[in-house]
Amino acid sequence: MKKRNLRTDFEVTELKPDIYRINEFDVANCYLVVGEKRALLIDTGTGIGNIVAVVRGITSLPVDVAATHGHPDHLGGKNWFKHYYVHPDDEKMSRKISPALRAGLLLFQGPARKKYGIGLRDLTPGEHPAEPIPMEEGHLFDLGGRTVEVYHTPGHTRGSVIFKLVEDQIVFSGDDVNPFLFLFLPGSTTVREWIPGAERILSLSEGCVNYCGHGADPVPPEQIRAQIRLAEELVRRGNRFPLPVRIAKCADAGAMIFYRPAHVK
Ligand SMILES: [Zn+2]
Ligand SMILES: [Zn+2]
Repeated sequence: MKKRNLRTDFEVTELKPDIYRINEFDVANCYLVVGEKRALLIDTGTGIGNIVAVVRGITSLPVDVAATHGHPDHLGGKNWFKHYYVHPDDEKMSRKISPALRAGLLLFQGPARKKYGIGLRDLTPGEHPAEPIPMEEGHLFDLGGRTVEVYHTPGHTRGSVIFKLVEDQIVFSGDDVNPFLFLFLPGSTTVREWIPGAERILSLSEGCVNYCGHGADPVPPEQIRAQIRLAEELVRRGNRFPLPVRIAKCADAGAMIFYRPAHVK
């Protein structure tokens, strides 16, 4: 039988020496941090093509995999690895990632599919039934000369975490302070519950560059501040809107919050 050629032409950008963004065809960002002894892959993408081959093209060191949260666009490729670290509050969600869920997600990515010529045929099953390892607040990844700290910041999902590279002054914030902030999903917190985590991300990002799970641009602190102000305003206002999902825009930043009116406080 003819072996299928799996896509490995991910766009890889070296953000700093030995720290890479692996752009999974504009669907999601994965980040690879290479230390002296180990490497850490933050998120696996949806599972398009063969991400292990991409990682192996960069480093031959042992690689740990850790997730910013349990969504299928960030952990859909987990089965390329034997284990993945995930916050316990998102473990159940991560176990439920199915081929159908990943396919459904890809069907919503019209522009990315067109730009890169990717399709459902490019979703790969991986090589293992990956097992989760619980990763709590305060977990440290010592990569040798590089330390990665884990902070629990519930909001976009209850088990969302951010990773801080201590020596490099970089924060990877997953989907928790994206310019298009989704708080309407089934596993999201209320708008009010998101605020303390966002304030924490803001203070942990001080003096750092903050990279998120989608798009190439770093998240500026002014954007997070504007979203927190907007969230506080939404909580103050309360909600009497009959629609299932509403979009609120920041007055002074190009950012917004997608939320459920019945799930604000
Ligand atoms: Zn997400
Ligand atoms: Zn995402």
